[in-house]
Amino acid sequence: MNDDRAIGDGTRAVRAGLPDPVKYEPTLPGPVFAAHFHLPGEPTGPYTYGRDENPTWTHLERAIGELEAPGESVETVTFASGMAAISAVLFSQLKAGEAVVLPDDGYQALPLLRERLEAYGVEVRTAPTGGDAQLDVLAGARLLWIETPSNPGLDVCDVRRLVREAHAAGALVAVDNTLATPLGQRPLELGADFSVASDTKGMTGHGDILLGHVTTGDPGLAADVRRWRKVVGAIPGPMEAWLAHRSLATLQLRVDRQCATALELAKALEGRDEVTGLRHPGLADDPSHPIASRQMRRFGSVVSFVLPDRDRAERFLDGLRLVDDATSFGGVRSTAERRGRWGGDAVPEGFVRFSVGAEDPEDLIADVLRALDAAAR
Ligand code: PLP
Repeated sequence: MNDDRAIGDGTRAVRAGLPDPVKYEPTLPGPVFAAHFHLPGEPTGPYTYGRDENPTWTHLERAIGELEAPGESVETVTFASGMAAISAVLFSQLKAGEAVVLPDDGYQALPLLRERLEAYGVEVRTAPTGGDAQLDVLAGARLLWIETPSNPGLDVCDVRRLVREAHAAGALVAVDNTLATPLGQRPLELGADFSVASDTKGMTGHGDILLGHVTTGDPGLAADVRRWRKVVGAIPGPMEAWLAHRSLATLQLRVDRQCATALELAKALEGRDEVTGLRHPGLADDPSHPIASRQMRRFGSVVSFVLPDRDRAERFLDGLRLVDDATSFGGVRSTAERRGRWGGDAVPEGFVRFSVGAEDPEDLIADVLRALDAAAR
């Protein structure tokens, strides 16, 4: 356990969630594969049945908690995916007749959740991420859900301000922290009740597992979320949980490299005539920058921009040699995609979401500029 607030992010990441050393045991114990545990007598204790708890989750949950809220007493609940984590908060907190505020420009599965919530009698209101428009629809809501920076538009909202107003109005606040990771932003420190993420992305960073988590400082809320996981059974496999924990050791190395290169790439794209709508919260003149620089510690690994039309964007993506045309983001291998191919996001046909990996920045930027030149011909 490492609850020293003064240590650096890299030190915290490499030691996060490690149990006290035991002679002849590995530093990070291997995955525990168990559907049930020896349980004579009264069924109490930490490990009873594999859908309720698993020691590999316990280590990972401690690690994520240390990153989300260093030095604070918080609980983390891991899930089989980011959507499982998001659903756990929404469905464990909302009842028929209550209202929730969701972003209208967030991750594109939110409308599917909206359908479900409405079918269960929950009132769903929406607001865009930027501009604090959530405040206009907050009255009487039970939960405010924000995603900042938003995917794929990279708008940000003022978490401290929204939390203050939401709490005054009696609403809980959950922040989808997927894009930032806890090294980019710590929603609980900004006052939120829940920090939620898809750990499929930057947290695990290798594009090889799906996972999600919910962290909260409120034991009652944590118990709600944990009970929801038990009921629905959206549990991570021990192997995935262990791989995630191992991957967290390099979180700071990966995120630092990826965020620095993303800013460099964004600056390189500023000079291109065919690029419009360039967004990255780290760019000094980006609309997100003033708020992002007050609440974020790193600006994320995603850059978005618009090429003149669909064909040009597809030619650009085809021409990249170091970048996979693939969805998702936050991985060590750069990926990019024409977001409009999915439908559902309000973006132009030529809109590209670019996730910067851990390649050498000069190689990656040269590849991008070369592919832009080739796409222009
Ligand atoms: N939240 C955001 C911001 C996302 O981008 C995604 C997936 O892209 C999710 C949640 C869902 O995560 P998962 O795919 O792990 O279920």
